[in-house]
Amino acid sequence: MRLLFLGPPGAGKGTQAKRVAANLEIPHIATGDMLRQAVSEGTDLGLKARAIMERGDLVPDDLVIGMLMERIARDDASAGFILDGFPRTIGQAAALEDRFGGAGLDAAVVIDVDSDEIVRRISGRRMCGNGHVFHVDDAPSTEGDTCDQCGEPTYQREDDQVETVRNRLGVYRELTEPLIAFYQDRQIDFYRVDGVGGVDSITDAIMAALRP
Ligand code: AMP
Repeated sequence: MRLLFLGPPGAGKGTQAKRVAANLEIPHIATGDMLRQAVSEGTDLGLKARAIMERGDLVPDDLVIGMLMERIARDDASAGFILDGFPRTIGQAAALEDRFGGAGLDAAVVIDVDSDEIVRRISGRRMCGNGHVFHVDDAPSTEGDTCDQCGEPTYQREDDQVETVRNRLGVYRELTEPLIAFYQDRQIDFYRVDGVGGVDSITDAIMAALRP
């Protein structure tokens, strides 16, 4: 099963995609996580992506498509995967169509959250180097500025500061939101889920939609 999670930054795509991927026993593939890893390792791709990501703009399609195609060619993705943060442009969606034929996907899940709530969520988000995610109000680490799961320090992503979040939202509305209409017009299962509510109940709603 090839699944896409779509929605604005801060909608909870990463959180939900990880949970659903574990339930379905397929890999969760998040291009934002892969790019952050490339930046922290200082690879060629990371050096090219770093400043673009800090501004909240999109890394060029050719770079992201190359990275994603390599990832989905790995054995663990042969039975399917959940994409989180890709495609973000019509050009990236076209690359998936070319790779797999048809729409390139079996289903898309759109998580809806309004802009004020997004800014509140993202500006309070903290994470650690191992990818554990917290929120200063909604889900703080019990260890303060240290991750209560692995002991690493927690920090705010450079692109989670309020001005950058507003830019990321603008980029989302202009370049990524049109993918909703794009996939609604394709022969794939399409679900919309309200992203405001308890984490468990949102996971349940997604699983119920995927496995009626
Ligand atoms: P995310 O973790 O999904 O919010 O992504 C963080 C940042 O990585 C984005 O603001 C972009 O700069 C970059 N990025 C992630 N995925 C993509 C993509 N599919 N296309 C272009 N840039 C991306």
